[in-house]
Amino acid sequence: MTAKEEPLFPIVVLGGGAAGSAVLNALGDAGLAADTALVEPSPYHYDQPEWVRVGTEGRDKADTRSPRHANIPSATTWIQKSATGIQPDEQIVNMDDGTAVRYEHLVVALGIETLWDRIRGLKSSLGDQGVCSVYGYEQAERTWEMIRSFSGGRAIFTAPSTPHKGGGAPLQILRRAESLWRDTGTRAQTELVFAVAAPTGLKEGAYDDLSRDGDKDDVHVYTGYDLIEVRHEAQEAVFSVTKGRSQTRQVLPYDLLHVVPPMRPPALLEESGLAHRDGPMKGYMEMRPESFQHARFATVFGVGDALGVEGEKTGERAREQAASVAQALLRLRAPNK
Ligand SMILES: Cc1cc2nc3c(=O)[nH]c(=O)nc-3n(C[C@H](O)[C@H](O)[C@H](O)COP(=O)(O)OP(=O)(O)OC[C@H]3O[C@@H](n4cnc5c(N)ncnc54)[C@H](O)[C@@H]3O)c2cc1C
Repeated sequence: MTAKEEPLFPIVVLGGGAAGSAVLNALGDAGLAADTALVEPSPYHYDQPEWVRVGTEGRDKADTRSPRHANIPSATTWIQKSATGIQPDEQIVNMDDGTAVRYEHLVVALGIETLWDRIRGLKSSLGDQGVCSVYGYEQAERTWEMIRSFSGGRAIFTAPSTPHKGGGAPLQILRRAESLWRDTGTRAQTELVFAVAAPTGLKEGAYDDLSRDGDKDDVHVYTGYDLIEVRHEAQEAVFSVTKGRSQTRQVLPYDLLHVVPPMRPPALLEESGLAHRDGPMKGYMEMRPESFQHARFATVFGVGDALGVEGEKTGERAREQAASVAQALLRLRAPNK
């Protein structure tokens, strides 16, 4: 296919998650739905924050997903494919089946990827013998079965070393499990551990309310504890522990282990030259924080978890960014509307 044969859309949105679908709906409200194409392989839209309730309240997981077409304006073209490359100079997006589309404006809303494989032994043990996570549609339901039937012992909840989506979700999951175990009477037989990979608390004093020295209801907060291996048969969690300049290993037996996996920005951003090349935002999309426009390619905008911005990665934030980007596109494309 030559460049001229590739279909051209005024606006192409990559990814139809919380951020992408918010952009599409705002563009739809502004009368730009027919000018817009969505590139998104998944037939479903997932309400990821609700996975916490699936895992800690027993909400039906099927309620957290809906058909993709219900979340995009009917006049928008849905290209049900994965993007495999972005050529920002040529304004082209390549797809996994060898086809491509051209764009006048691109909105990158690819989210972040979860890296289950980065923790040795985790993927094969998820959902079995106390190893669980609400950070996935399939796993969330099994988490509820494990939390509900927990009869006491040591319960470890982790937070990863990488930026993660969901802001305070790792701690919120612990809190919800603890509240249930108080109701069922299991809390008194439970040693609760919050193992945080960051060497110090996320914010000064962030866990002060968890630890009350000597109280039997303490939550033991271990900072600098980065989960690196799950020994499923032995029910042992192996942590790389950083204290100041020293690094050691600690093996903690568990009866329940809730894991928030490490995450990373989509490799596509780095491969396409759209990502920060170094520094703390390496791999995340480089953009101007005041406009969400790419720092070097004026036809490219970004929204959601894939952006190289400080702070928490949440759907709430993604939707605010989406509203700004839709406004900017509206000014560029339909200044009289
Ligand atoms: C357990 C959990 C709890 C959370 N709790 C909260 C909360 O309480 N409050 C809150 O505000 N937020 C919460 N979040 C975070 C929130 O879900 C995310 O911040 C939000 O979904 C980010 O939106 P996004 O569109 O950037 O990414 P996503 O919603 O992840 O969407 C990314 C989309 O890109 C698509 N995609 C990926 N690769 C490609 C490709 N190559 N080509 C085309 N499409 C692609 C994916 O299929 C997906 O649809 C939680 C998340 C989780 C997992």
